[in-house]
Amino acid sequence: MSQTAERILIAGGGIGGLALAIALALRGRRSLVLEAREAFSPAGAGIQIGPNGVRVLELLGAAADLRPHVGVPDAIHVYRGSSGKRITALPLGAWIAERHGAPYWVAHRADLHAALKATAERHPEIEIRTGFGVARVEQDGHVVEVFAADGASFTGAALIGADGLWSAVRGFVAPGVSPQFAGASACRIVLPKAAAGRLAENAVGLWLSPKAHLVHYPVRGGDEIAAVVIADETWQSRVWDAEADPIQLSAHLSSFDDDLSALLLRAGPWRRWSLNRMVELPTWAKGRVALLGDAAHPMFPYLAQGGVLALEDAAVLADLLTKGGDEAEALARYSTLRRERARRVQEASRRNGWIYHLGGPMALARDTVMATAPGASLMAGLDWLYGWKP
Ligand SMILES: Cc1cc2nc3c(=O)[nH]c(=O)nc-3n(C[C@H](O)[C@H](O)[C@H](O)COP(=O)(O)OP(=O)(O)OC[C@H]3O[C@@H](n4cnc5c(N)ncnc54)[C@H](O)[C@@H]3O)c2cc1C
Repeated sequence: MSQTAERILIAGGGIGGLALAIALALRGRRSLVLEAREAFSPAGAGIQIGPNGVRVLELLGAAADLRPHVGVPDAIHVYRGSSGKRITALPLGAWIAERHGAPYWVAHRADLHAALKATAERHPEIEIRTGFGVARVEQDGHVVEVFAADGASFTGAALIGADGLWSAVRGFVAPGVSPQFAGASACRIVLPKAAAGRLAENAVGLWLSPKAHLVHYPVRGGDEIAAVVIADETWQSRVWDAEADPIQLSAHLSSFDDDLSALLLRAGPWRRWSLNRMVELPTWAKGRVALLGDAAHPMFPYLAQGGVLALEDAAVLADLLTKGGDEAEALARYSTLRRERARRVQEASRRNGWIYHLGGPMALARDTVMATAPGASLMAGLDWLYGWKP
């Protein structure tokens, strides 16, 4: 078999695509990453990386690149949105690092992406081509061929669609399935610490209010604070970086503590993106083509696991693709293994969203349970999530 046929094609040079390329290279397997954008942009805001994700970054050799830029929050502080009163503190920091053997990090997505890109560039087995949007896929025997809209093409032994929420490769694996608007949006901002007032704490802050919640945490080594307001909303778009409407943002914040909403409304400009849901795919693999990350399982952000699951997918898939067997069998096995995990995380994330946005007596009951249960025992309920090992 030729060198070209042996390499793995990866559509998408985002978090999952770069992680997969690195994981393959560490096992000696070549890959060609095809990224639609002409250049990688620093777009994005905060991203949380639980111990299950940091563990993968350590395995990839990317953790050292990212470490100087992360925040390491001591706890998750849960607040009642209307009063700013703290309901509970859930331990992170040393507690979670000791429990799971890896820390809980918070970072700017651009810093995470830059760390993965720098790591990928150290591996001669990885070739990255920007400005190549995969538009069409053909599979013939042991070879997969991808085509751009202008007809340019590349071949490889398998193709992994790590091309995000609006994946083109998904059309080959699961024709006709695409994400649907979920009736909510995420408005986000990154503030200098000096301008972040009460949000400038070394914690993940979670403010709960009916139909809206706010999450904030330190990024860029603690110099900046990332904040995101997730609320029910009818506006919808496919872009990650649309400007937020200040009037709508103000409406989302109206049920929050006055000082907090004044602080947030003074800051700007805010960006926003729409939240989408997708039916569960019957399979993530078809012959020598498979999906990874958001392309396979778009996540609601209520458990902060979208990027982390893409990292997990990459570690598992690289392992299976480098055992020396048939690629199609490896991809089928990957699909079986990972769909179960993604389903569980998605369900937990959806449940969190429902709990966060409760109102009236249900919200009071939620707050009472949170206030009375020890924080460590609430966090222990997520051992199945953060304790995952490749
Ligand atoms: C610009 C941007 C900003 C984001 N900001 C945040 C954020 O602030 N916070 C957060 O939690 N999550 C953010 N996300 C989402 C988060 O990164 C993903 O949910 C998560 O990392 C899953 O990773 P992924 O590799 O599956 O997808 P992504 O990280 O989205 O990567 C997909 C990649 O595929 C490329 N691509 C798309 N179509 C094609 C195609 N046809 N051919 C080739 N390449 C293609 C995209 O340009 C992108 O680089 C952002 C994603 C993007 C693209």
